Formats: sequence, C-alpha cells, structure tokens
Amino acid sequence: MSVKQIIEVGKRLYNRNLTCGTSGNISLRQRNGQILITGTGTRLGYLSVNDVVLIDKNGDNLEGKGSSERYLHSAIYNKRKDVKAIIHVHSVAMTSFACAGKGMNQNIHPENILVFDDIPLAPYGMPSSEELVENTVKFFEDRDVVLMANHGVVACGKDLEDAFTKIEMAEANAQIILNSLILGGGVALSKKDVEDLKKLKNGN
Ligand SMILES: [Zn+2]
Repeated sequence: MSVKQIIEVGKRLYNRNLTCGTSGNISLRQRNGQILITGTGTRLGYLSVNDVVLIDKNGDNLEGKGSSERYLHSAIYNKRKDVKAIIHVHSVAMTSFACAGKGMNQNIHPENILVFDDIPLAPYGMPSSEELVENTVKFFEDRDVVLMANHGVVACGKDLEDAFTKIEMAEANAQIILNSLILGGGVALSKKDVEDLKKLKNGN
C-alpha cells in the first residue's frame, strides 16, 4: 500500500511537471520508524515496486540502495515527529529562486502567506553531503517547505498527499512571483494586510 502510494505520487509529480528524469526523491515513514524511500538513480515518473527501498531511522540502507539524499530525509524525520512523508524535487520555478539565491518571502499573494508564511532559502551544501543536511534541516523547525540554494526544494507533510499538495501549491506560487516580475514586479501587500492574514490563519 505504502509503496503504491509512493509510485502514484511519483507519477503525479512527473505528470504535473514538478520533476523530470532522475531528479528528486520521495519517502514515507513507517510505523516502526523505518523509512520507505525511492532508490538512487530512479525516475520518479516511472517507479516500479523494486525502485522503492527501505532505510533505517538514521538513513542507512536496510534493503537496496536508497536515494543519495536519504540522510536529509532521515534527519527531517528525526527532527519532526509529526512528519510522515517527504518530497524533494527540482521543480523549475522554485529551483529558479534557489539558483538566484532568493527565498520566497514576497508578500504579493495571500495564499503563500496563509499556507506557508514564507518559504526560506537554506544555504548551499553539496548534494548528498552532511553540510546540505545541516544547512537545511534547521529550517524545518517551523517550516514545512524549504528551498536549498542552487539545488531545489524539500517539503514535508503528515502524509504523502499533504507533502504533494505543498509542493504543488508552492510551485504555483513561485510561478506567480516570477510572472509578476515579468509584468514589472509584484505589488506587495501592506504590513496590515499581512498581519490580518496571519490573524485569519491563527483563527483570531
Ligand atoms: Zn536534489
């Protein structure tokens, strides 16, 4: 069941143009703490049952060879007990922000503020390095979606649907910000508008 969910979400990410080729990885925490994760070099759009492997809670391989970013996944799970699923992709619009050295903190669209607050940019660390894990994981303290400089984006959720929805919505927001720049720059909401939105979010 869980493996099927990963395969299904991989297809959806690919069909929605949120990933391509061998980029990205997906994981799902199991009840016993072990983690199902896509294997290294697999194509998310064309996963088969054998492409999903098992790692332990420290990110070490148990069966097969997990994604090269498996230590990033395990470190996020270890930091956040509420997180059950993680998706990492190089979706084009968000990765453009990451490559331009910019986080998504432009207060031009209420959705971005309501759903994400903002989407911060973690400093660069070489892909699959310890530095990347260190630089990125700390942002998950109070955020669910984090850009990684010159690399891509990671989102976590209470399940795979939740993580997928965050990636989908965050990428749409990145496209809105980019298109606004083409049209002369987004018009930022006022400080009061932003505060009102945060109150709405917190139910005040
Ligand atoms: Zn990557």
